Amino acid sequence: METDKNYKFKCIKCGFESYEEVLKCPRCGGPIQIVYDNLEWVIDSKIPSMWRYKSLLPKSDKIISFNEGLTPIRKIFGVLCKLETNNPTGLYADRASSIIVSSFKNKIIETRYEEDFTLSLAYYSKKAGIKLKVNVIPDNVDPQDLIIIAKLGSDISFINEMEKMELEYENPYTIEGLKTISYEIYEKNPKVEKIYVPAQSGTLVYALSKGFYEIKQIKKDFNEYELIAVKLRHSNIPEILNYSKYKIKISEVSSKEALESMIHLSKKGFNLKPLASSAYALAKIEGNGISIITGNRKISMHESKKYSELKKDIMNIFSDNKKRTAYEIWLELNKYSLKGIYKSLNMMVNNGELCEEPILRGERKIKVYWKCEDSLL
Ligand SMILES: [Zn+2]
Repeated sequence: METDKNYKFKCIKCGFESYEEVLKCPRCGGPIQIVYDNLEWVIDSKIPSMWRYKSLLPKSDKIISFNEGLTPIRKIFGVLCKLETNNPTGLYADRASSIIVSSFKNKIIETRYEEDFTLSLAYYSKKAGIKLKVNVIPDNVDPQDLIIIAKLGSDISFINEMEKMELEYENPYTIEGLKTISYEIYEKNPKVEKIYVPAQSGTLVYALSKGFYEIKQIKKDFNEYELIAVKLRHSNIPEILNYSKYKIKISEVSSKEALESMIHLSKKGFNLKPLASSAYALAKIEGNGISIITGNRKISMHESKKYSELKKDIMNIFSDNKKRTAYEIWLELNKYSLKGIYKSLNMMVNNGELCEEPILRGERKIKVYWKCEDSLL
């Protein structure tokens, strides 16, 4: 038994406990979560990432972070959205990846391919110098993902059935990473009643429920949010949600509603899947809440590198806090195409890094951009 840890691994279903790391319950096969002996709300507010809550996260000798988390909350077509698109790879899964690579002391991680999760983990593993082995069932993979994962230096093995020993998306470290979304919402304290979360496997919404449950234990005066798992109609209710200690309401939207929201959000440059648009779809109907936007799928890592240079240049010229049009930015930088500037500005608005507003200049309606502060209602 390790004594320096103030937490243990506990099966969500049957209650099996261990101070040794377990990723899946050896007794019933159920999901494992980390349970702390005592919780204290201590924030290191100097840290501009989810690691500001490190006293409430698994201990790590060496934290590997690329400033994931602390994502902005912005209004998109009138709906407040927490933009996980603002994470390093554009995906909410970066929160999980950071905890995983920080916690795994052996320098090889063997994982099962799961959309988004594996992409993010491949990126983090490369940056952390950890070898990632990805097991892929050939009929169940996005080929574009495979190319990116291979480019990031991960080993890919094609298998016929799931391996027992591999790290799956649903694991105690993923839950710890994702629960920080709740911490951030609590810290920001937006005046809303509901939190809408897309739900398929249920891991994300379960993690948020754990985060809120922990806050409830620490802060007796916590004004609870109504946590809503939004699934697509005809999909199953994820089993893990039955075990949450924080009340989760289950709602659903039709495929039509999700697709309409997906198209609607694409007008702001979001590249979402129907499931990822489901929470937004319900938030738009019911209101009074924040919708979690889980991630923008970036087309390729190559593009994102080029984009990150341009983005840095754009952020630099906005350090004077003045408003500018795309054309003015293009003139000032004088080294990119106007089309490239427009594309980047659009992405930066989606990521919550810039704000935009149409204004009239003479007869013409033009858009101005500026570096925005968080504006919450
Ligand atoms: Zn169990």
